[in-house]
Amino acid sequence: MIYDMLLLRFGEFILKGKNRRRFENSVFLHVKSVLEPFPLVELRNEFGRIYVYLNGETANEPIQALKKVFGIASISPVIVCKSELDDILGTSYRYVEELNLQKSTTFKVSARRVWKKFAHSSHEMNHHVGSKLLKNFEMLDVSMKHPELELRVEIRETETYIFFEVISAVGGFPRGSNGKAMLLLSGGIDSPVAAWSSMRRGLTTECVHFYSYPFTSQLAKEKVIDLAKVLSGYAGEIKLHLVPFTEVQTSFTGQGQDKLIITLMRRSMLRIAALLAEREGALAIVTGDSLGQVASQTLSSMNAIGRATELPLLRPLIMMDKNEIISIAKDIGTYDLSIQPYEDCCTLFVPDSPATKPNLRIVESIERSITNLNDMILDAVERTETMVLTPNGDGSTKVDSPVEEDWF
Ligand code: ATP
Ligand code: MG
Repeated sequence: MIYDMLLLRFGEFILKGKNRRRFENSVFLHVKSVLEPFPLVELRNEFGRIYVYLNGETANEPIQALKKVFGIASISPVIVCKSELDDILGTSYRYVEELNLQKSTTFKVSARRVWKKFAHSSHEMNHHVGSKLLKNFEMLDVSMKHPELELRVEIRETETYIFFEVISAVGGFPRGSNGKAMLLLSGGIDSPVAAWSSMRRGLTTECVHFYSYPFTSQLAKEKVIDLAKVLSGYAGEIKLHLVPFTEVQTSFTGQGQDKLIITLMRRSMLRIAALLAEREGALAIVTGDSLGQVASQTLSSMNAIGRATELPLLRPLIMMDKNEIISIAKDIGTYDLSIQPYEDCCTLFVPDSPATKPNLRIVESIERSITNLNDMILDAVERTETMVLTPNGDGSTKVDSPVEEDWF
């Protein structure tokens, strides 16, 4: 089928009155960027919709790209004809002919006369188009309630749109429309999915990764950079903060409380992330936690860990099963990277049976006993390297993150 145009409908954010214009513009720019590889296409932004004129590009690849654009709820490939009765009838006929129906199919026509000066009402058009099709295609039967094929005919002043497919797209909120959050990005399966989920909800998402060189390798760090690059495909660009965590982490060993090491590490990660959040103007921390998945993700652990920061902790995967998470990871293209077997700093020095019910009082007293813990945390923030990644950037841009005297 050769389509002329793709009709894009916005998602739920359309409900939000005063921001609508800004949100629509943001989706428009996102659409424009994913369509860059298709030089013939032209875009038109109209109240509540975006029209993508294909001008000879085939529809399939642009549709695949557009399905991933946050804020778009559905896509219809459309055939465009003149707003004249004969042309509408002829085009509808050719459309159904090209479908090459092999079995009996129920259908209905839903015409909409948007241009009120058109000579025939919507009702009359249903009838005209419907009878033309019934007369010519013996496979077709009318069904008003549950048709398998609903041919839509939208008559506008300049042209008429004919389509039947409504392809679901990813939905969510436009890029960056709901504020900024810091996401803790490990090299695992879950946190990249949490990143994508927060971006889909309109959060500008900066990634924070903790590494413990030399215990974790350069390759482990590169894997995280690659993951962030994949994520930048959804965000346009993404900031990745690489935090040297060795000193903080090793300060927790040799305390005779190995079962609490994960709890202690996670609390320090949150403190560091909160400082970076303050510096970057982010108002929440996102993690890939999923309830009960491992010892550090029991309610009791999350409680003891979460108290280390006052920022809201967002856990988009909290109620999801691992197989649901894996399926999203595959869809968004992070899974194959995530399963590469590089060590994460959290798997180091970890006992066989970490605490599932850490005692907050003990945890806090261990932290107090490490008198230079705060300094190590500040030092880790100061030595954090920040990169800005883009999907096609060959390398990555490093930006300076000067630590100002007074922001602590
Ligand atoms: P993931 O697949 O995201 O690694 P996981 O199931 O392996 O998750 P944990 O290793 O317990 O779970 O980590 C829980 C969360 O803590 C991660 O989803 C991530 O948000 C954060 N996290 C763990 N390790 C790191 C790290 N090295 N750097 C940054 N964040 C981390
Ligand atoms: Mg992990």
